[in-house]
Amino acid sequence: MTLEQSPLMGQMMHQPLMISSIIQFAARHYGSGEIVSRRIEPDLHDALYRSTYRDCERRARTLALALAAQGVAMGQRVGTLAWNGYRHLELYYGVSGSGAVLHTINPRLHPEQIAWIVNHAEDQLLFFDITFLPLVEAIAPACPTVRGFVLMSDRAHMPASTAIPGLLCYEDLLDAVDQAAADAWTWPVFDENAAASLCYTSGTTGNPKGVLYSHRSTVLHAYAAALPNVLNVSAADTVLPVVPMFHVNAWGLPYSVLLCGAKMVLPGARLDGKSLYDLFEGEGVTFSAGVPTVWLGLVNYALQNNLQFSTFRRTVIGGSACPPAMMDTLIDRFNVQVIHGWGMTEMSPLGTTGGLLARHRDLPVHEQRAILQKQGHAIFGVDMKIVDDEGAELPWDGRSAGHLLVKGPWILASYFRGEGGDPLQGGWFPTGDVATIDPDGFMQITDRSKDVIKSGGEWIGSIDLENIAMAHPAVLQAACIAVKHPKWDERPLLVVVRKPGADLSRETLLGWFDGKVARFWMPDDVVFVDALPIGGTGKIQKNRLREQYREHQVAAE
Ligand code: ADP
Repeated sequence: MTLEQSPLMGQMMHQPLMISSIIQFAARHYGSGEIVSRRIEPDLHDALYRSTYRDCERRARTLALALAAQGVAMGQRVGTLAWNGYRHLELYYGVSGSGAVLHTINPRLHPEQIAWIVNHAEDQLLFFDITFLPLVEAIAPACPTVRGFVLMSDRAHMPASTAIPGLLCYEDLLDAVDQAAADAWTWPVFDENAAASLCYTSGTTGNPKGVLYSHRSTVLHAYAAALPNVLNVSAADTVLPVVPMFHVNAWGLPYSVLLCGAKMVLPGARLDGKSLYDLFEGEGVTFSAGVPTVWLGLVNYALQNNLQFSTFRRTVIGGSACPPAMMDTLIDRFNVQVIHGWGMTEMSPLGTTGGLLARHRDLPVHEQRAILQKQGHAIFGVDMKIVDDEGAELPWDGRSAGHLLVKGPWILASYFRGEGGDPLQGGWFPTGDVATIDPDGFMQITDRSKDVIKSGGEWIGSIDLENIAMAHPAVLQAACIAVKHPKWDERPLLVVVRKPGADLSRETLLGWFDGKVARFWMPDDVVFVDALPIGGTGKIQKNRLREQYREHQVAAE
């Protein structure tokens, strides 16, 4: 066949991939599917709001009309500062479905950074949960693009007085829409490549950068995320996303759960161990997803109170490396299957998930765990490779560590408004992670390139050292960072939080590493602290630790 010949075209319907099709499908085919949401208003925080996908679709379409009444046009950004709750879910569908762009903002960022992001995105409206009223009052004067601030509650919860001029009420906006008009309204269909949502990277160095997802990228990611090899969501599941809807679309769960027709449980503002445990048990949660720091709270609560989970059977842990000790506890003590996930804001976020192949089934448990511990296999839709400093591809031998590059239809091509120029290298997106890939295609992150410890010209992986430290029974959390060394350039320093009441000395912990790592990987020193600095996405802020311990002296052998 020559290129001049035109191919025979398929004769199937052409339907653009629209986010609104997910909520329409859920409402029509799983209409009575449940959404249970913990209330956020302080006087109602023990109350649960129960609704269905049918209700959610109706309220989301009403919201779409309310947005139009506020003058929000196609492509304009609508900001949210909100927990995982039913109104946030309505915004997910109402904003994107109407053709506007849902801009989820991480409320854990510094207020100045939040104002910077709102301005950069040129948000037209800003919706927020009542928790964030003081924050929004503080930043409102610095957000000139915002034409209306909307409190996500009802009239009864509106503040008697506020510094925010013309503060709007969410339920009032919905009530003002003519319900007959809303019922007659149909979701618009437009180019599937149109922008649907916007999320800024955490910006540990420099200003945050915006990642602008499209309808197409979001729907493809939602399909892929639901696959058995990935999150394995089904209509028989009850799913509680602990991962916040204010960051990277809660790993796509607000889309994947609905297209599977599973029951959705939204935890609101209360993410402590007890509140989560009660909700897991009360609602029969079978599946959840979150970062290791959140699981730490839940697992410790259950351990301390000698509890079991009656329905919880599967979880995805990602965002930073899942410590092996946490994986072992979840599997062995609680009978919860752990799926290790890796990705990033620029990847919508899912790139790989862990699991076993059929032929791994009869392996001894410790060998299976070593496989599950890896960040896992590429998801169909994501391609990856590892390269050396010169860009030459490295072998998939499970040992050669190199810069990890990815490509695929839900991976960023350029940042919002072209910030940072062209990020791609020959069509691949450089993740900033260092990884190995084994002959079976399992990828393992050894480090973030900026966290790697370079000692005497060799790389020392900080994640491995942290995992070993965290396997010690007296260690709650550990971070390993590079400190300057006169002879070796950099050496590893362990910063450790002991478990409450545990007794552990520097010497005992260093002795724990004997025989577990090569001699030159041995940490040079340990400092014990009460807590580690945690950033807006629940990750340990190693840049702050590096800053703090910059002058730390280790013996110069
Ligand atoms: P997100 O905002 O989704 O947490 P970021 O873009 O802030 O993502 O951070 C992505 C980075 O987090 C990755 O490049 C990687 O360094 C780290 N990361 C994510 N998941 C894992 C994991 N399972 N193991 C190790 N590192 C991870």
